[in-house]
Amino acid sequence: METQGRFYRAGFVARGTLSFRVELAERAWTTFTPGQYAYLEWIAPPLTDEKGNGRNFSIVSPPADLPVLTFATRLTGSAFKKNLETLPDGTPIRVDGPFGTFCLPERFSSTRPFAWEKPVVFVAGGIGVTPFMSMLRDSLSRLKAISFYLFTTNRTLEDSAFQGEIEELSRHHKNLFLGQFVSQAARPLPHGIEVVRLTPDHLFEAIGEKARNGDFYIAGPPSMVSSFKVALLGAGVLSERIHVDPFLGYF
Ligand SMILES: Cc1cc2nc3c(=O)[nH]c(=O)nc-3n(C[C@H](O)[C@H](O)[C@H](O)COP(=O)(O)OP(=O)(O)OC[C@H]3O[C@@H](n4cnc5c(N)ncnc54)[C@H](O)[C@@H]3O)c2cc1C
Repeated sequence: METQGRFYRAGFVARGTLSFRVELAERAWTTFTPGQYAYLEWIAPPLTDEKGNGRNFSIVSPPADLPVLTFATRLTGSAFKKNLETLPDGTPIRVDGPFGTFCLPERFSSTRPFAWEKPVVFVAGGIGVTPFMSMLRDSLSRLKAISFYLFTTNRTLEDSAFQGEIEELSRHHKNLFLGQFVSQAARPLPHGIEVVRLTPDHLFEAIGEKARNGDFYIAGPPSMVSSFKVALLGAGVLSERIHVDPFLGYF
């Protein structure tokens, strides 16, 4: 559904990574499913370029936060993103959606599914963590009998969006297991964060036998998403168990 909202900056959630809110009119959207995204477009912005005034963004907030939607993005210097950095709070913005089917299985809509042996495995390449934040914020308390595994991969720990909140969630929810990976580290890292390129073997090692029954969700830059999907297929995971959300527009 196309509507208009008001834009507010919410603060940085990692190096060069801005979170922002869009406040919709009451009941403009009645709901959405965690994992979905919205198309946001500036209306007559001060800065424009050939890449256009609109972008798709995964929704970070849970449906319970409606009529507020929260997003997060890497600042890259594009005209769209410079507007994000400089336009005043309250600026009107066009919002279309919700779109997408990168969501948890239908069976999870029942209030008490029991499937500890069927883990849900999230693999987030960089800013690809955004749809998972919505799913985790919405589901962890409600779906206590589901085991969630979140694997994040970033260049450095400073680039890891929502790092503090993710750690907090795993401390408070026994059904969330973390695997955090970075490709560079200039200084010693906290316990549990590995400096190595994430591969399916790391997933299987952490999850064990029940990984074979799992559903795998991969989000982030398209090259990372497709190479990880190929690697999972190569490791014997059935294609119907692999769900992908390539953030087209990142290269
Ligand atoms: C479903 C989905 C969810 C996303 N969620 C997020 C998110 O949560 N956070 C985030 O930071 N980014 C997200 N993105 C990517 C986002 O839409 C931008 O493309 C990205 O942030 C880069 O924008 P830019 O202004 O920095 O780069 P620029 O290079 O200036 O802009 C990217 C350009 O790529 C274009 N583009 C989009 N799709 C395609 C395509 N298929 N082929 C070619 N060009 C294309 C865009 O319209 C835009 O013009 C998502 C993308 C998709 C499709």
